[in-house]
Amino acid sequence: MLKNTTSILLIYTGGTIGMIKDYQSDSLVPFNFNKLEKQVPELGQLDCKIDSVSFDNPIDSSNMNVAYWVKISELIESNYQSYDGFVVLHGSDTMSYTASALSFMLENLSKPVIFTGSQLPIGDLRTDAKENLITAIQIASLRKKEVSVVREVCLYFEYKLYRANRTTKINAEHFQAFSSLNYPALAESGVHLKVYEENLIKINARKKLKVHKKMDSNVAILKLFPGITAKIFRSVLNAKNLKALIIETYGAGNAPTENWLISELKYAKSKGIHVVNVTQCSGGSVIMGQYKTSQHLKKLGIIDGKNITTEAAITKLMYLLGNDVSSKLFKTVFETSLRGEMN
Ligand code: ASP
Repeated sequence: MLKNTTSILLIYTGGTIGMIKDYQSDSLVPFNFNKLEKQVPELGQLDCKIDSVSFDNPIDSSNMNVAYWVKISELIESNYQSYDGFVVLHGSDTMSYTASALSFMLENLSKPVIFTGSQLPIGDLRTDAKENLITAIQIASLRKKEVSVVREVCLYFEYKLYRANRTTKINAEHFQAFSSLNYPALAESGVHLKVYEENLIKINARKKLKVHKKMDSNVAILKLFPGITAKIFRSVLNAKNLKALIIETYGAGNAPTENWLISELKYAKSKGIHVVNVTQCSGGSVIMGQYKTSQHLKKLGIIDGKNITTEAAITKLMYLLGNDVSSKLFKTVFETSLRGEMN
């Protein structure tokens, strides 16, 4: 009998981790979770109690959407009191989006929610799935003075634990598929499992979990490129019901100084569309006003994305719009770090 056993709920959504080859279509497709559990008998050796729930029809994460995010949040909400931590198995392609979204949806989280997956299916001889899954569970079960050590939404992949809303998928080939260029790792798995406690979020554990399920998808991302025209900009701004737009700018938040762009940004403003400046670089920050090529954006009151990732920015927009943050406060609230997503 295990003493003081930690209990973890595994939530299986799909992804490569549980895929097999479908010979008819000659492609990888998700399979049933029970088979996944059979592939990892090691789970039985862990010093914690593990239960699991699975999507009825596991998905490739390219099919991820807001309804599935709500479903994951509901699974966590309805099981929150019964478990010490949650491990979400998810395809790597959109894992940073889902994990960022959940970081906003789960306000006052005081238990670990750890996303993981793999680049190779769990049945593959050279799979990275076992290490990712087993260590994610071990991290979710870490406790100090009867309290979980990690109390935020994280992403564990290839020996590193990151704050979820700081991550981006950077590689479709290497086992090290994710990076967090603007925030250090929260933990690292080597010979020892090292937790960098100074990097963990500080929470007020007395506050009750609040789950936000309204995410507004009337948002868009437009990546600048040399040669982009007013026509493209206008067609995006004219999309029905558009409420917020991320412009992925160059370097430290720079954009063309041409009149057409200024006119388009004024047009966006006249339509009440919130425009956020996020750099298309994977690391570093927007610094509006540093170059002349961003001064006009600053003057126009464009929202400063600072060093937020595009994944966190788009999901933060959906969250703020879903929560009816007023137009007056929108810029200030967006520019404030809510879950450690920017600094
Ligand atoms: N296409 C897969 C998915 O995101 C890739 C993976 O799991 O790594 O579901």
